[in-house]
Amino acid sequence: MGIPLNQMARIGAYILKNEILRTKRYPLVLMLEPLFRCNLACAGCGKIDYPAPILNQRLSVAECLGAADECPAPVVVIAGGEPLLHRELPEIVEKLLAKGKFVTVCTNALLMEKKLGQYKPHKNFNWSVHLDGDKPMHDKSVCQTGVYDKAVAAIKAGKAAGFRVNINCTLFNDAQPDNVAAFLDTMKPLGVDGITISPGYAYERAPDQQHFLNRKATKTLFREIFKRGRNGRNWEFFQSGLFLDFLAGNQTYHCTPWGNPTRTVFGWQKPCYLLGEGYAKTFKELMEDTNWDSYGTGNYEKCADCMVHSGFEATAVKDAFKHPLKMLSVALKGPRTDGPMAPEIPLDRQRPPEFTFSRHVEHKLEEIRTRKAEAELPADAAE
Ligand code: SF4
Repeated sequence: MGIPLNQMARIGAYILKNEILRTKRYPLVLMLEPLFRCNLACAGCGKIDYPAPILNQRLSVAECLGAADECPAPVVVIAGGEPLLHRELPEIVEKLLAKGKFVTVCTNALLMEKKLGQYKPHKNFNWSVHLDGDKPMHDKSVCQTGVYDKAVAAIKAGKAAGFRVNINCTLFNDAQPDNVAAFLDTMKPLGVDGITISPGYAYERAPDQQHFLNRKATKTLFREIFKRGRNGRNWEFFQSGLFLDFLAGNQTYHCTPWGNPTRTVFGWQKPCYLLGEGYAKTFKELMEDTNWDSYGTGNYEKCADCMVHSGFEATAVKDAFKHPLKMLSVALKGPRTDGPMAPEIPLDRQRPPEFTFSRHVEHKLEEIRTRKAEAELPADAAE
């Protein structure tokens, strides 16, 4: 297991406190997206399809720290866009660590070697390098040749400089179990501390809609990968065993979208990291005013095939806490890779999708225009 003991202990204590207090909903991981701008344009990404004035927006240091103060999650994952394009990211990371948060920066690694010197190794700080497989798989996934080699060079540089370095791997329906297993084998010699693996979410705005996995295909794929992971291959996952068991089709889980609340330049995103169906001004408003029951597999068509870690890892972690023997069994034996799968959630009562993207974009553009016009007014005219 690639999760450090101190992190497991702190998260365990945090869950215990919330369970004792009978907190109905509480976050585990704050997803911070301080910008949407990226230096890649991956075919399976639904995060960067915005007009330039929105791509030029940044969350300030104060806004990032304010989000971490509002949201009590012990872990902060900084994603985007490409977070290394944010000039103030070193200060944001340092100040989040000083607040006692576990911080992960997710990066495509194109700028990582160049910027490594701006960061200091810390026991609570991880790099998470995006790597969707071996060289042909990854370069195809990110639609650019040479990115795999740069990511591997960055991983080596990060390890040599004393950092904890993980990888995050998203799989699509063209993933071949043998290739994925062989790729995972190559991570240990590189010194990678942990692997996060997940099926891609079928973003409605992603340019490539042909390669997303449905639930049945996801479970079959992960069973085949985990089968190959037996025989002492010892892959170090930075994920809970029960989430991996869920990917292998052995758990019927409903998502916990409030487990990974997301703060972007739009505000607090409803309901989760993957869907932007509305935005709240504060974390409190997000938690209290979101109609959580209208989302999730079986409730909403856009959720039908979702098995992504940002939605289900929190469910698995809470399940592990409530059923420690089940967790222990999976930890000792690994996810089950044969036999019947757990029952699927029926989809016959899900509501149809809403398409809200253009409305939010228009609203944000109007806000940016108004702010700009006010900034350009002479001081006496603004009074
Ligand atoms: S299933 Fe849950 S986590 Fe996945 S998109 Fe729907 S609300 Fe978000």
